[in-house]
Parts: sequence; C-alpha cells; structure tokens
Amino acid sequence: MNQLKKHISVKCINFNTQSTNTRSRSISNQVSKNSTDRSRSVSKQCPAIKLPVPVKNSETTSLSNTKQVSKLGKIKIDLGNNATSRSQQTTQKSRSSSQISKEESFPKMLPDFGRMETELLDCQDFFLQLPEIHFPTNEDVMKERVILANRIAYTIKTKKRIPPSTPDFYKLCYVIGKGAFAKVCLGIQILTGAKVAMKIIEKSTLKSESAKKRLLLEITIMKILSQYKQFAQLYEVFETKKQIYIIMEYVEGGDLMKWTKEKPIPEIQAKNIFAQLTLALQTLQSHNILHRDIKLDNILLQGDLIKICDFGVSRQIIKGQKILEQCGTPAYLAPEIIFSKIGYEGFASDIWSAGVLLYILLVGKVPFKGNNMNELNHNIQNGQLNFIEMKKQNLSNDSVDLIKQMLNVNPKLRITLTEIMNHQWLKEINIKQQKQQPNSTNLDLRVISQIEQFGYQREFIIKSLQKQTFCHINAIYSILTSVQK
Ligand code: ATP
Repeated sequence: MNQLKKHISVKCINFNTQSTNTRSRSISNQVSKNSTDRSRSVSKQCPAIKLPVPVKNSETTSLSNTKQVSKLGKIKIDLGNNATSRSQQTTQKSRSSSQISKEESFPKMLPDFGRMETELLDCQDFFLQLPEIHFPTNEDVMKERVILANRIAYTIKTKKRIPPSTPDFYKLCYVIGKGAFAKVCLGIQILTGAKVAMKIIEKSTLKSESAKKRLLLEITIMKILSQYKQFAQLYEVFETKKQIYIIMEYVEGGDLMKWTKEKPIPEIQAKNIFAQLTLALQTLQSHNILHRDIKLDNILLQGDLIKICDFGVSRQIIKGQKILEQCGTPAYLAPEIIFSKIGYEGFASDIWSAGVLLYILLVGKVPFKGNNMNELNHNIQNGQLNFIEMKKQNLSNDSVDLIKQMLNVNPKLRITLTEIMNHQWLKEINIKQQKQQPNSTNLDLRVISQIEQFGYQREFIIKSLQKQTFCHINAIYSILTSVQK
C-alpha cells in the first residue's frame, strides 16, 4: 500500500511544490468508494432543491468532515510516476504560454497592505449616520460597523484614498469547506452585515512562481465569470502577511454532494440541475474556459439555482488548442486526460465529468470504480457502464441514452453541448429560455448613494467600480445590488 501511495502522491498541478503540502492519500479512500460512502451530514433525500438551513460546524468538526468527504476523491492529481513528471513538464510549458502577462505579476496585483490599527485610533471624531442594513446581525457586528465606517471616512478625508482591505472588514464565523489548498469559511461583511464565503489560502503554500500564477489565473477566471449568476460571484481579493483572502458570494444551500448521499435523486430534479449545468458549461465555453473539476462538491445550490465554484485548476485556452496537463478528480477524469499522449481538447473532458455527475445524481453511485488507481483508470478507459444499476433505478431510456453519449470514451464522438441541449431528455425543460444574460454593466446610482453613507466619496466609488478593482467597494456594491433584486 505504501508503494501505491507513492504512486498517487496527490497534488494540484504544480500548485504547490512544497513537499510538506503534497497530500498522499490511501487509494482505497480515493478510488474504490462510491458516492454513497460520502459521510458528510446529509439529509435523507434530495428535497425539491429547497434552500436548506446551513449546519453550523465548529472548525474542528468541519475539518473531520472534510477528511471523510475526501473519500470520493476530492483531489487534484498527477497520475503515476511517469505521468507525474510529464504533467509537471507540460504544466510549466502551458503556463509560459498562458494568458498571465508579466506586468500582472502576483505581488504587484496583491500588495501586502497589512493592518491599519493606528488609523482606528485617530478617527474617533467621525460619527456617521449609517444606513439601515438588510441582514440580521448581532451587536458585535453593529459596533464594528460604526468603527469601520468611521475609519473609512477618516482615511478618505485625511489621505484622499480609500483604506486598503484587511480582515477587519469581515467577521469570520466557521469553516464550511476545506479543499486541498484552501479553507472556505462563512464570514460576515461588517459594513453590510451580509454573509460571504471567504476562501483563505496560506501563502506558505504558494512558494513557487507557478503556484502564484495558478492562483492569479483562478482569480482572473472568477473575475470574468462574476458577470454571470451561474457562478459564485467574486466580491473582493486582498492579502495579509500570511494569507490571501478571496471573498465570494455565500451560496447557502451547500454543495450537491450533500444531497446525493445514499439515494439517487428523482429524474425531474436531476434534470433541473443538469440543465443549468449545461448552460453554465456553455457560458464557460463562450469564454474559452475549461473548468476541469466538475464534480458534486463544486456545484452549489441557492434555492433551486445552481452556482459553480472552484476554478482552482481552470484555465483559458485558444480554440482547438491541445493540452497535456493532467488534473481533476480521479472518479470524474475523462479517459483522454489519463491516456492521451498527444494532448486533449478540454471541452469534451468537461462534458465527460458532467456525465459522471449526471450518473451519480440518477444512480447514487459513481459509474467507474476500482480497488486501486490502475483499476479505476482501466475501467474509465473501457467505459463500460453498469446498465443493471441504471435499470434498478428505473431510469428513463432518454436519460440512459444521454449518459451513454456523454460517457463515450472517444472525445470526438462524445455528445456536444449543443446536442445535449437538443436531447430528448431535456425537451420539457426548454433550456434555451433559461439562458442567463450577463449582469448589466450600468452602475446602479441608488446603490452608490447607499455606499456613500458608509463614508466613501462618490468619486472613489465610481472610479473603483469602473476600474473593476475588486476591493471592498466592489464587495459592498455587489452585495447591495443583489439585495435590490
Ligand atoms: P478542492 O480541493 O476541492 O478543489 P478548494 O480548496 O479549491 O477545494 P473550493 O472547492 O473552492 O476549495 O471550496 C471547497 C468547498 O467549500 C466546496 O466544495 C463548497 O462546499 C464550499 N464552498 C466553496 N465556495 C463556496 C461559496 N461561495 N459558498 C458556499 N460554499 C462554498
């Protein structure tokens, strides 16, 4: 087993070259479990995608939960010894041709602002009339809100600039998810009282240039996708001496993994989720973005809407470009990612992962399993589906046909997004009508007036929104705009 562990030394593509952060996990944990083995706290059956009450975990509980979650293979991998070295080489290669320009070098984009306690002491004489807030909040937050608003007004008046973001703008509540390289916490944005998701990345995991560039790429992709409702919105990015904070919209329904334990979900619910996923994939394709880690954990629920998160291994490509990087989650990996020596075009691979996801939703188990990595890969390559399992669930012929076409081992023969949208199984959904338009780029003057009440000057607000700086002004603007709707 030790030898096997060595072979699947688990790490995100060059995200972290530090050996201390390389995660080795046992194959039995990663591979052979089916989706019913996931043991996060789950209600018995997927409800009609009603907004669930989020379960408050203490940090320790969340951490232990995450360990169990990882049984489904919540990892980014390089496969095997040879594959690992190949993957590392190709990752380097593709990065040099990636879209990150030199001017955008990481430290310049995220200067270390540090904290500004001294300013807190000086701003007692400001006392602002703050606007009513829309979110339930406690006394602590109310007090911090006044201090923060005064500090903003003070900095703007005396220094003619907005204060930099610091963790003081947020109250950290508890951990809601933990991935291989970051933890995601529920937080409260102090000025508005709104819940936010805070992805916190330790800088110690970002020592190599490629790791920094990868994070920059994740943020860049989130910025592009922030104009669409199908993705968790990026509010703000800042750093402290030791950490990078990515502040996002909090999607309170939790991820799909939570809803698919033990029992498959009814076709009509799966259809609603899947139709939205298809549209989200179409949006990604229209920006030439490959997600590369489509899985239950990365699909969040807000009421009956889904939002995709985690762009940790996503990338933009040029149409027709072939890539060699091997990354993703083992059970969801397309065969061409594992086996192709000449590279693969990634859109079809995202469709394969979405096919695996659809199978899990409808059958309650992963389509391909193995007692070790080789066996799993072998089964993926064969693409043999378990029709008995599908029959047991009384799946409609249309759903089985769609799964079969999505899990075609030949990416060239695999069904395309347009064909999925026209597939018989989705006929009743009228998928094209659900297509999301990007958010309007016109600034909402009512919201800007509200932001002024927090001590900001109008010119700073407008400049920062127009420049898309993704600082705290953007966070407040996005939060207040979403409340207006
Ligand atoms: P992984 O190693 O799986 O790629 P990661 O470190 O990249 O994880 P994310 O996948 O972004 O981190 O987040 C981990 C988990 O946190 C998700 O599976 C999801 O359950 C939760 N999560 C992430 N973003 C949000 C959000 N905006 N709102 C609510 N929950 C979220």
